[in-house]
Amino acid sequence: MGDTDVVRHLDTAPVELTRTRDRLTVSEVFGPTVQGEGPNTGRRCGFVRLGLCNLDCSWCDTAYTWDWTRYNRRAELHDVTFEELACQVDALGVRRLVISGGEPLVQGPRLTRFLEFLDGRYAIEIETNGTLDPTGLAFLVDHWNVSPKLAHSGVAMHKAQKPDVLRAFTRLPALSGFSTVAFKFVCKAKVDILEVRQLVERCDIDPASVWIMPEGTSAYNIVKGIERLADTTIANGFNLTSRLHVLAWGDTRGT
Ligand code: SF4
Repeated sequence: MGDTDVVRHLDTAPVELTRTRDRLTVSEVFGPTVQGEGPNTGRRCGFVRLGLCNLDCSWCDTAYTWDWTRYNRRAELHDVTFEELACQVDALGVRRLVISGGEPLVQGPRLTRFLEFLDGRYAIEIETNGTLDPTGLAFLVDHWNVSPKLAHSGVAMHKAQKPDVLRAFTRLPALSGFSTVAFKFVCKAKVDILEVRQLVERCDIDPASVWIMPEGTSAYNIVKGIERLADTTIANGFNLTSRLHVLAWGDTRGT
């Protein structure tokens, strides 16, 4: 996408959003906190949650970034200049910055320019649903958490799973020479892990880079999900992750 991004889930979708070149559409900035999911679980960091998403997962826990049938876009999202956003990030007092969403790559060209603007001051980690090509950001991101959606998301599979894009993510470490990639799958039942296995094999993803994560926004559901998924995860050669922020703070925004 260029500077004019076509995005769904707006008041009257699809709508063209024309932005000046030096702004990002932001939901929230918070920290210091810890990364709650995946291989960097527990690492101290700050979060920038960007607005907008190109999918509409039924169990999305950040629907306030894109679902304007339930939330007020004007109240939830703000167009923030790079200078303002960098000041907010600097005030967090962290060395590691996680860019999440929504789907951050919906604003890919502007995100690229923002990370160039930050000029290497932070280790950058990006959370993405793995449907949009990441190549333009290859040399600006230290770690990718790629989270393709499974059938239980309710999203049509031709929209949720883009094998060519997922293969592009697998090539990022060799392309950049420094970045790492983890593929993180939200699972509810053991059968979901079989769906993960099929996609991993189809897209030549290294099983050692796969993390299975239980769905849930309460400590009870996370613990029960881990109990349900652990054995099948390990038997398939995958890794298992909790949702540490949910265990610590429950379903609270800005944690
Ligand atoms: S891709 Fe992520 S942000 Fe977008 S709807 Fe799905 S869970 Fe929510």
